[in-house]
Amino acid sequence: MARRDNPESEAWLGLLEAALGESEDGAVWEAAVPTPAAARPIKAPVLSHAQMTVDGRAARSWVRRLLKLTPQVNPRRIDGLELLEAAVCHDDARIDALAAAGGGGAEPHTLRVLGQMAVLPLLQACARGLASHLPPTWWEGYCPLCGAWPVVAEYTGLERKRRLRCGRCGTGWAIPLLRCVFCDETAHDQLGYLTPEAGEQTRKIEVCHTCKGYVKGVTTVRTLAPWAVLLDDLTTVPLDVAALERGYRRPERPGYALEARIAERRGGWGKLVEVGGGWWRSFRHGNSRQGAA
Ligand SMILES: [Zn+2]
Ligand SMILES: [Zn+2]
Repeated sequence: MARRDNPESEAWLGLLEAALGESEDGAVWEAAVPTPAAARPIKAPVLSHAQMTVDGRAARSWVRRLLKLTPQVNPRRIDGLELLEAAVCHDDARIDALAAAGGGGAEPHTLRVLGQMAVLPLLQACARGLASHLPPTWWEGYCPLCGAWPVVAEYTGLERKRRLRCGRCGTGWAIPLLRCVFCDETAHDQLGYLTPEAGEQTRKIEVCHTCKGYVKGVTTVRTLAPWAVLLDDLTTVPLDVAALERGYRRPERPGYALEARIAERRGGWGKLVEVGGGWWRSFRHGNSRQGAA
């Protein structure tokens, strides 16, 4: 069991359990599923430039509960909605800035992981609510719904068609066998596999010599449930280690910069307050700088 093998993945599994619990209690997040932006470029994911309006109190309370599970982070100093927005957009620079501003020794890497865990209930609700908006065919390597890189390529049933799965929203999309997810390389001699020496016949790691990217592959009888995709990713860390040791990696850059916004629905006021947007943020930063002087 991966729990015993790897202390870091054990900590992640605890966070994932919390996110699953929050997701089951889903009304808050279902209410935040946006209407997709009307005029999207053809290669833009469904959530590109979307505005999600959340119940501010419930969303902040969820982020606070999640952050409390990690002793290194002081939840009082992190704005939950800013973290959600930065994580939805995969904006690591902004998350690092939040970690620095939050003080208390919050490691940027830790806050990045926490941010991705924090947005799971929202993104999974979006995947359920917006499935009918997915394009019938999708040739990009990133998720057609949320823009993330896939965490696994799934080969299901007798057909064994290659289907990529998103580790955030769980969306799956078919893509040709011989094509790099990250750089679209199609030359056969540039694409390969790493396979375990013995035992597990259902696992492999697909690698690209051109961009040095990798994605884990798994053969399944039935397509994995959205949460099972994440669980599979977290419990196969030894495969990631094997890929990293051979010089392959997952790209740092996001698959697609979503530029989505998270706004707050204020109880009773019937008014939206944009969080993390331009003027509001500079106003607040300006104030805190004055306060510090
Ligand atoms: Zn996705
Ligand atoms: Zn590549």
